[in-house]
Amino acid sequence: MGCWLLFHGSHLLCCGSSMTSKESIAVFGSTGSIGTSTLDVLERNHTRYKVAALTANTDVDTIFAQCLKFQPSYAAMGVPSAAAELARRLAQAGCATQVLDGPDAMTRIAVNPDIAIVMAAIVGFAGLPPTLAAAQCGKRILLANKESMVVAGDLLTQAAKQGGASIVPVDSEHNAIFQCLPESNRCSPDGGPQGGVSSLVLTASGGPFRQLSLEQMQSVSVDQALNHPNWSMGPKISVDSATMMNKGLEVIEASYLFDIDESLIEVVVHPESFIHSMVRYIDGSVLAQLGQADMRTPIAHALAWPDRIEAGVEPIDFIRLGSMHFEAPDHTRFPCLALARRALKMGGSAPGVLNAANEIAVQEFLEGRIGFVDIAKVNSHVLQQFESAAPESVEDLFSMDQSARKFALDYIEHEASKPVA
Ligand code: NAD
Ligand code: MG
Repeated sequence: MGCWLLFHGSHLLCCGSSMTSKESIAVFGSTGSIGTSTLDVLERNHTRYKVAALTANTDVDTIFAQCLKFQPSYAAMGVPSAAAELARRLAQAGCATQVLDGPDAMTRIAVNPDIAIVMAAIVGFAGLPPTLAAAQCGKRILLANKESMVVAGDLLTQAAKQGGASIVPVDSEHNAIFQCLPESNRCSPDGGPQGGVSSLVLTASGGPFRQLSLEQMQSVSVDQALNHPNWSMGPKISVDSATMMNKGLEVIEASYLFDIDESLIEVVVHPESFIHSMVRYIDGSVLAQLGQADMRTPIAHALAWPDRIEAGVEPIDFIRLGSMHFEAPDHTRFPCLALARRALKMGGSAPGVLNAANEIAVQEFLEGRIGFVDIAKVNSHVLQQFESAAPESVEDLFSMDQSARKFALDYIEHEASKPVA
């Protein structure tokens, strides 16, 4: 295992508390679950950080209020009409925030030399272009947008290496592993299997349907799928947690982030979600990171590493917690986890194809056009049909993503069952 995440000599090492000027950050996806939690942490630490840019897709009300509060230099929206509306409202309110427009507005923010830190919290494949651009020009990337690592693992890690960027994981499991890895594995560009690490253990809550039979899952509603027992998250990742595709995507994410073989990444279901993940060592030691199910902890850690800052998170009360439980994941009821492992072993474009199919399937489920168990069927079907080729450029990734989406939509139109009303 070699972890290239953080390099000696990068700008990272001068990001400690001794800095006098504020560190400037762009929050991509600022109106979402991770985006709003990030702004909460930034507000608590406003003497250290300056919010330089905010971006969203369509939610003008929320980003408008955020612009008034944080006074960023720039804002951008994924949808042009939303950008125009935001610009109009900000001008009317006398706010100096400049709304960038055009298809490359997000990327222009990501490469702006005045911005040192990028919070990548757009959901889905849409987050890839600004994240890749930030990697190419050496930013400190706080990576929540797991789909960009799933789709473009090799390209993204190569771009970060070449551009001198650092990627600090925000996904709670990967952030936990990052915290539990030995210092040598975090800082060596050509790590190798150092530090006595034997495997990574990703924990999974099991989601809202952990105890349902396959038959019961046939008739679950969108609201039930969105009702995660422990975490409050955006709709896409909530559905991914219910199918356990989220854990599958996280196995792929971990493999690229930590440069470790799929066979050395275990998954264990831990319904209380206090242990966020673990690292096993060859001497039998297991290091775990614990915390509340509150994303402000990994966000604050990723922001300030190697320092620690306030996150507004309650300490764990171990006496009230009492006990923790562990069980094996059930691949029959949750086939998406095994599909993700298969895609990772296939390599090349397979993880991206699976991701594209899953984004379509989740959207169709959320919009009531397919049932919950159809998500896994769509994913399995699309993955089976594709030959895995090695994407050599971002253009390759885009065309593969587009054809996998089209394939998933065709399958849904002709084959998938309708949801139970
Ligand atoms: P969310 O749906 O709450 O927010 C998504 C954000 O992305 C919004 O600001 C939205 O405006 C923006 N966005 C959506 N589509 C866009 C597009 N096409 N162009 C530009 N912006 C777009 O999602 P979330 O739960 O905050 O998750 C964000 C990312 O973080 C996901 O990749 C998710 O897997 C990851 N993540 C989330 C959590 C969590 O607790 N929410 C935990 C770990 C990882
Ligand atoms: Mg996670």
